Amino acid sequence: MAGSDFSGEHAQAELLLVGGGHAHVAVLADLIRRAVPSTLRIVLLTPEPRLRYSGMVPGWLAGQHGAGEGLVDLAALAARAGVELVLDRCTGLDPVARQVRLASGGTIAFGLASFDTGGEGRAAALLGEDPRLLDVRPIGAFVERLAALRASGRLPARVVVAGGGAGGVELAFGMRNLAAAAAPPQVTLATGRAGLLPGFAPAVRRRVAAALARQGIAVIAEDVRFEGGSMMAGASSLEPADLVIAALGSAAPAWVRESGAATDNAGFLLVDAHHRSTSHPHIFAAGDIAARADRALPHSGVHAVFAGPVFAANLRSVLAGEPARATYRPRWNNLYLMNTGDGSAIASYGPLAAEGAWVLALKHRIDKGWTAKYARLADASGDHL
Ligand SMILES: Cc1cc2nc3c(=O)[nH]c(=O)nc-3n(C[C@H](O)[C@H](O)[C@H](O)COP(=O)(O)OP(=O)(O)OC[C@H]3O[C@@H](n4cnc5c(N)ncnc54)[C@H](O)[C@@H]3O)c2cc1C
Repeated sequence: MAGSDFSGEHAQAELLLVGGGHAHVAVLADLIRRAVPSTLRIVLLTPEPRLRYSGMVPGWLAGQHGAGEGLVDLAALAARAGVELVLDRCTGLDPVARQVRLASGGTIAFGLASFDTGGEGRAAALLGEDPRLLDVRPIGAFVERLAALRASGRLPARVVVAGGGAGGVELAFGMRNLAAAAAPPQVTLATGRAGLLPGFAPAVRRRVAAALARQGIAVIAEDVRFEGGSMMAGASSLEPADLVIAALGSAAPAWVRESGAATDNAGFLLVDAHHRSTSHPHIFAAGDIAARADRALPHSGVHAVFAGPVFAANLRSVLAGEPARATYRPRWNNLYLMNTGDGSAIASYGPLAAEGAWVLALKHRIDKGWTAKYARLADASGDHL
């Protein structure tokens, strides 16, 4: 724990922000722009002082970004917003007693709490344990492990990527174009039986399949798992493999289900259109940890980012003793830009697909624009508001 005096059990935060995720950075920005009343005690509880922006990780693999890029400085934003930072992990929630438990053993009491912790990796649960298994979640640990492999010169020559969603696809391209590799690694993308990019338009799937084939990335539409120490796809072995990367979506942390707050069937915090808990009105949630009760909303960074300002407005209203009125209405279609690692990218927008270096340039502009906005806000030296 750092930057805080929460050593005991009874310190009370008027607003407790749990997790420095993509929606909570918008809340910090809102607090900075509107200048929080100094009498309010607001706390950010998160294990790392910086948030790694996942959208830039495939580009980092391919050498398009440095490791220092694509980070949001949560500590600096919190300092500018007048928010206390507690570097610790939430391991329990009691919504009735209005307390969260910390990994270090303490507790934080709150009046109003907001959750944006993302989901947890489930690679070992789905594939089995193996020292070569690397879960993409948490994304910071994923980057650290690959950076360590790169630094030691022990980059993998044969890689299996498990997961046929946009994350798995981009990681397969990133690994195929791995910067600093002596030769391009052999990459197999195991999509699972659901196949490549379920939920995406046929035009997008066709372009992605063609790009995978062009780059020599093998695609297997089978569920994979470790059996007797071997990576298997159905009855076939995928050995030899030096590294197995899993991008299999996220699971809800156990402490959410155990809290007694309303959850969906998968254990994610159930919220209404204001992103307020359907069971406990003093609890809010956004990003991958939340599940909307009124509509299906895929777990993706786009929704965490777009819900952020709505979420911030509602927290502000409730702190001021007013009702939460703002609702997050997702757009009908969202733009997804998949980096193919070779200087190009594929765009998906509803039924439409496009491809080229210009798509990658657009992706870089959007991604760098998002992180630069927060870097400017975190910079206390200038007036960037
Ligand atoms: C390789 C890859 C590429 C992706 N690219 C895209 C993309 O281009 N577009 C897109 O829309 N989505 C993309 N995604 C999905 C996207 O990363 C997630 O949907 C998004 O990060 C979810 O944001 P979040 O705010 O819910 O949580 P996160 O971004 O995961 O942030 C969670 C925060 O909470 C903290 N935290 C975690 N547990 C705790 C705890 N117990 N207590 C306190 N704090 C905690 C974490 O340290 C972190 O700061 C990609 C995913 C991957 C793996």
